[in-house]
Amino acid sequence: MSFSPPYPAPGSTLPVLELRTRPDYVGFVPRVVGVVVRIAELGVASSWAQSFNESYHTTIRGSIYSPPGLPVSDSLLLHERVHGWQEKQLGSVAYYCRYATPSGRLALEAQAYASEVVAGYRSFDHAVESITKPVYWPEPWASSPPAERASSALSDAVQAWGSAGHDSTSIRALCNP
Ligand SMILES: [Zn+2]
Repeated sequence: MSFSPPYPAPGSTLPVLELRTRPDYVGFVPRVVGVVVRIAELGVASSWAQSFNESYHTTIRGSIYSPPGLPVSDSLLLHERVHGWQEKQLGSVAYYCRYATPSGRLALEAQAYASEVVAGYRSFDHAVESITKPVYWPEPWASSPPAERASSALSDAVQAWGSAGHDSTSIRALCNP
């Protein structure tokens, strides 16, 4: 059976995240991530590292790290706060172990992208396209899941948000404050 993350109840609040601009990494794990990306930048995966650094936000240990000059939209904030919730619920070690495996990463990203779809911030097709982007699946460690697999994981997650009692209003409200 595949892994399915827990879902927050309507009326609850997702963890509030601090906003930081890369490379202002604070704490041990974020610094390790910073070093890994720096090493990737210098050799094995330089185009991946460049794309990650310039175009993607990432949440590590309670902070959103933004590329310089890239704003944080409501949609993105919801997505990243869902990751903050996942880390809190699973515990950091389990969360990172899950995220390190392709199937765990797909389930965790599907839940985060599905929150944006249910909130009405993003279309289903656009979410599928985003999940399969190579930035999540850096060669040589992983390769992008086929669109059908991403689409089925996303569709399960959209359904699970519904089963947890959510609609677009309640899901947006998870970000208050
Ligand atoms: Zn994500």
